[in-house]
Amino acid sequence: MNHALPVQAHGCRNAPVLKERGQREVFCGLTGIIWLHRKMQDAFFLVVGSRTCAHLLQSAAGVMIFAEPRFGTAILEETDLAGMADAHDELDREVARLLARRPDIRQLFLVGSCPSEVIKLDLSRAAERLTQTYAPNVRVLNFSGSGIETTFTQGEDACLASMVPVLPETQDEQLLVVGALPDIVEDQLTKLLSDLGISVVRSLPSRRSSEDPGVGPETTVLVAQPFLGDTVAALAGRGAKVIQAPFPFGEEGTTLWLRAAAGAFGVSETTFNAVTEAPRARARKAVKAAAQTLSGKSVFFFPDSQLEIPLARFLSRECGMQALEVGQPYIHKGLVGPDMELLPPETQLSEGQDVDLQLDRCRASRPDLTVCGLGLANPLEAEGLRTKWAIELVFSPVHGYEQAGDLAALFARPIRRREALAL
Ligand code: SF4
Repeated sequence: MNHALPVQAHGCRNAPVLKERGQREVFCGLTGIIWLHRKMQDAFFLVVGSRTCAHLLQSAAGVMIFAEPRFGTAILEETDLAGMADAHDELDREVARLLARRPDIRQLFLVGSCPSEVIKLDLSRAAERLTQTYAPNVRVLNFSGSGIETTFTQGEDACLASMVPVLPETQDEQLLVVGALPDIVEDQLTKLLSDLGISVVRSLPSRRSSEDPGVGPETTVLVAQPFLGDTVAALAGRGAKVIQAPFPFGEEGTTLWLRAAAGAFGVSETTFNAVTEAPRARARKAVKAAAQTLSGKSVFFFPDSQLEIPLARFLSRECGMQALEVGQPYIHKGLVGPDMELLPPETQLSEGQDVDLQLDRCRASRPDLTVCGLGLANPLEAEGLRTKWAIELVFSPVHGYEQAGDLAALFARPIRRREALAL
């Protein structure tokens, strides 16, 4: 068997990182509710927050109005500050109304936010109290989606981490894929892992609470999203083994991710090649088509989603781009270390943000493509830079072999559009 990673002698794992702690421009963790509520079909996310929180959710999720939405906001007014007991009573009344109207809800998340009146409210106590009231039909958990955290994808991390303590114990040998993926992508990756001969493959989060995985000493964790540090630590705390791998973006990333699982479960090289050969060839062909536009171009990443380092690895190694600066809100080497090893040594990594200084560096380097948040994209476009909204990469299906071509195309599109306008 040969399951070793093709580590570059001059990767970026130990390269100096530019650390900045200034003003930053990112969404808050409530944003994660937009994709989590689609994934977890019997869950409801009740944000305990202000009118600002309600507006954020409405505008971010406004594109998809459900007849029965699975998220809402309990607005805490300034006057609620007067008495915390009243606030708890009001929350209990809201939850009672919601659960009476929606018997389909099996798990309810109370989501904290950053207004000071919410911070003072002990949502974990509220979740315990409400669980006692509504068990066994409804499980009530809490997590924070506050904008005080570093970046918006931490909302998913906080949500999944809140679930780990209540997962059942299991002694069964199993592979647990961690991170919310679109159902179709999850199905594709689960099938590949099963075809490798890994007999039990489970997912966190599951689509329904009745399908929640167990966790225990025979559980091996394979992480699908690079922003799940707290969740992974909580799973390790329950005895699970965590395997490290580059993230499954592009043909190479997906192969190395699957290969790490194959190595942990003793899959032979022959089986590995037989299972992956055809989808690898499809992915390579699809990436090649989009890479014609990207090859030789430069890219600059502002820190936004935590996907930056794995995506820069994909763009530099599979699409022939030059990654000038790769900013990430925070760098967790336990998760993105394997991707860092595959980045070219000349890549400047940065952690955190001082937005004005970073804008200066971006303008000075004049990248062919800048990946950044919505707030920065318009001004940079006005200055003649081509931009890609980082958040689109979180909302789009981009993992795995079958999405590798689409992932490259997402980056190629703004460059093609600008070239077409210039004609
Ligand atoms: S949690 Fe904080 S940052 Fe997020 S919408 Fe509410 S007030 Fe704004």
